[in-house]
Amino acid sequence: MTHDHSASRRRFLASAGALAAGAATSPALAQGATPNPPATGKLPFLIGRSGDTLIPRGKMPRVVICGGGWGGVTAAKYLRQLAPHLEVVLLERNPVFFSCPMSNKWLVDVVDTQFLTHDYLGVSEKYGYRFVQTEILEIERDRKQVVTAAGSLHYDYLILSPGIRYNYEAWFANDRRMAEATRARFPAAYIPSAEHFRLKRALQDFKGGHLVMSLPPPPHRCPPSPYERACLIASMFRNKKIPGRITILDHKDGVRPIGPGFKSAFEELYKDIISYVPNARVEELDPFRKHIRTEAGDFDFDHAILMAPHQAGDLAWKAGVVTPPGQGKPGAGWADVDPLFLHHRQDKDVFVIGDAVGFVSEQFAFYPKAGHVANRHARIVAYYIAEREAGREPAYRLPDNLCFMMVDSSPQLGISVQFDYKVNDKGVIEQTQIDYNERKPETVIQDFNWARSSYEDMFA
Ligand SMILES: Cc1cc2nc3c(=O)[nH]c(=O)nc-3n(C[C@H](O)[C@H](O)[C@H](O)COP(=O)(O)OP(=O)(O)OC[C@H]3O[C@@H](n4cnc5c(N)ncnc54)[C@H](O)[C@@H]3O)c2cc1C
Repeated sequence: MTHDHSASRRRFLASAGALAAGAATSPALAQGATPNPPATGKLPFLIGRSGDTLIPRGKMPRVVICGGGWGGVTAAKYLRQLAPHLEVVLLERNPVFFSCPMSNKWLVDVVDTQFLTHDYLGVSEKYGYRFVQTEILEIERDRKQVVTAAGSLHYDYLILSPGIRYNYEAWFANDRRMAEATRARFPAAYIPSAEHFRLKRALQDFKGGHLVMSLPPPPHRCPPSPYERACLIASMFRNKKIPGRITILDHKDGVRPIGPGFKSAFEELYKDIISYVPNARVEELDPFRKHIRTEAGDFDFDHAILMAPHQAGDLAWKAGVVTPPGQGKPGAGWADVDPLFLHHRQDKDVFVIGDAVGFVSEQFAFYPKAGHVANRHARIVAYYIAEREAGREPAYRLPDNLCFMMVDSSPQLGISVQFDYKVNDKGVIEQTQIDYNERKPETVIQDFNWARSSYEDMFA
């Protein structure tokens, strides 16, 4: 990015002079107090309100990226590399990046907080995009505008990487009190936020008893990760001699992916700790009485990790790109995108990447909702936009996916799964899946290498 240093220096000197002039006449300042806001009723320059302009239109086309998670942060960097003339703005509510991948290991102290958290400011400065920490309030596609708590801004291209939302409505309809109590007391910790810290504290305080984990129906974020979480909590109970039992209530009829690998870990490593219950669709849930009714039976619990069904993140709904539920269309509750080019079917300037992406194939329906896929989507969309900017028709590109899961923390052992994609002669995207079911220490090394290189790809 280029700056007019002399102009900004002139502005700085002018405002410093104005302050100095004010200080000379202000008795309060003479006693060392902070100056009051100007009496004009205007707020200081950098305090934005949603009705203000956040960033005025520049000369260059602008890409606004909504959500600075695995997809968004990758897209920002790759856009600056592939199309350096574009202005790139990344909007994110959180001050730091907190990674869900590896967070199961963090819950049981295999990695520390520093391993999961990353700084937005250094990387945005390094690659020359603007990072604005703010809540995105609305997306007005008709005006090509994003409204944030700090002001609005125009876009030429929009990339939505909003992650997921919990569909508590499926459990509690409009009963907000039940949803809030469930999230506060028994958080799923599937969205990076205070929930992770709440769950970690609950696990640290757990002295024994019955821990229930209810799994969401597919598609949901990181399909194998609830089983990894159960294994790692069980290994913590075993290592710390905590008399705890874990019941996994699975909506599905069996463990997937890496089913044999997880099942043998449950049976061979945690026989007295983990019980696995398939076909356990949640019918009724009471977070106050600590009771859950499922199609496979009723359960009381001392603590629980209650995972409501997942849907595309709120922002995708606000942007009006979600396939509506209740109309029998495939992909309801997720973003309706062109499977190969990842733009909204009705709007070629709006791309959706990562977990929010909806139905893409008659063979496998949804891409796995994984950080690896979000990272690949981001690179692909950055390339599509760069090609369009260069006046070329982009050729389609497809992601791949790798997922490593730790099933024991001492000794550290892992299993993994790999997905590859191609387009068949009927134009349908096909998925090949390979499960690596054998527990191995080498898989854990691969897992850490994968995590480090992914963080590097986003932040170095
Ligand atoms: C326990 C667990 C383990 C996992 N393990 C793995 C793994 O081993 N490998 C793997 O590949 N994946 C894994 N995942 C999945 C991975 O975390 C997600 O697939 C990935 O984060 C998706 O990226 P995304 O960009 O779509 O969403 P996110 O990374 O969730 O990013 C969305 C961003 O949007 C921001 N946002 C949303 N709304 C607003 C708003 N209104 N205003 C401002 N900002 C907003 C959010 O704060 C967030 O930063 C795991 C997930 C979990 C929960």
